[in-house]
Amino acid sequence: MSFDPALVRKDFPIFQTTMRGKPLTYLDTAASAQKPQAVIDAISRFYANDYANIHRGVYELSATATRLHEQAREKVRAFLGAAESREIIFVRNATEAINLVAWTYGRSQVNEGDEVVVTALEHHANLVPWQMLCKEKNATLRIAPVDASGTLDLEAFAGLLGDRTRIVACTHVSNAIGTHVPVEEITRLAHAKGIPVLIDGAQAAPRFVVDVQAIDADFYAFSGHKLYGPTGIGAVYVRGEILDEMPPYQTGGGMIERVTFEETTFAPPPERFEAGTPDIAGAIGLGAAIDYLEAIGLDRIERHEAELLAYGTECLEAIPEVRIIGTAARKTGVLSFVVDGVHPHDVGTILDGEGVAVRAGHHCAQPLMNLFQVPATARASLGIYNDREDIDRLAAALHKCVELFH
Ligand code: PLP
Repeated sequence: MSFDPALVRKDFPIFQTTMRGKPLTYLDTAASAQKPQAVIDAISRFYANDYANIHRGVYELSATATRLHEQAREKVRAFLGAAESREIIFVRNATEAINLVAWTYGRSQVNEGDEVVVTALEHHANLVPWQMLCKEKNATLRIAPVDASGTLDLEAFAGLLGDRTRIVACTHVSNAIGTHVPVEEITRLAHAKGIPVLIDGAQAAPRFVVDVQAIDADFYAFSGHKLYGPTGIGAVYVRGEILDEMPPYQTGGGMIERVTFEETTFAPPPERFEAGTPDIAGAIGLGAAIDYLEAIGLDRIERHEAELLAYGTECLEAIPEVRIIGTAARKTGVLSFVVDGVHPHDVGTILDGEGVAVRAGHHCAQPLMNLFQVPATARASLGIYNDREDIDRLAAALHKCVELFH
């Protein structure tokens, strides 16, 4: 079946609004996706009809809320292709997912003289926690390099894996320049040396089918709000065998088995890692977002975005004053660029005047920007509601920007 973004847009109330009297051209889905009515309805239905705290209630409403929350976990499990729903831990977002792994598994495994390997493509969320952990432990953070196109140098990556490497943390898709990393190859190389791998799937999970077992990931992190779901909810997959060995993260209510004044024993996973009242409505909203995406089909979403990315690349390459940053052969969803003689923030402001929403800045990837020797870029990122007309509006607005400054 063909994919019609015009029909998809009808599912998103935000597109009924206009920006500065113009239709909204939303090209900032990599920062956060807009929300379909189905997600908004699922959340408000829960608050209106089924709301109570979970787990601890013996009454029917609490049992219903618990069932809905656990159904959402099961949806995430199926969405990621995990074997068991206990391998899915709800967190606030990808950032918290990675911090959880760094401060539980990481802290228990990384010691003085050990090494952690990340890539030059990482979002700060998958860099700073490892940097902090290495500082705390007197360990070394190694950075796998990229070439001038923004493609990961796999040979150099493999060369960094040694006897002291305790974990590899690697993005699936770069939010800053769109590079799609061959994570199956990353896990193969790392596992050959017995090293576990965390994949940051924040930009991948909304864009194509992810199968954590096929990837052979040990940890896989993503955010609900980039997946057309609500803010405040995300999840991390942790491979079962590792899960059982992982010490708790935050402590308090909901994650215990038995507490005395002297001692505490902990609940089995996933509750062990979900202290306190979780974002129940967020999990339910995330489940609704997954249902929505699966009804469209992740394969169709992937094809649609690939076609649009190719078209967008062509349109931007046709403007001599525009230079695309990140030209890897395999890219997904993101077009980062600079305009000769115009600061990216000015580009963003001029595009905004045309109703075109893009992001301008370092995209939480300052070291990567330094490698490309730019302080910032403008970034157009794609979602399921974008079409060629959006790209045409972006190109027209960029022509205007060039005219203004040259
Ligand atoms: N990792 C990647 C690749 C991202 O693009 C982002 C957000 O832009 C994050 C991690 C952090 O996501 P969040 O801010 O939802 O925690």
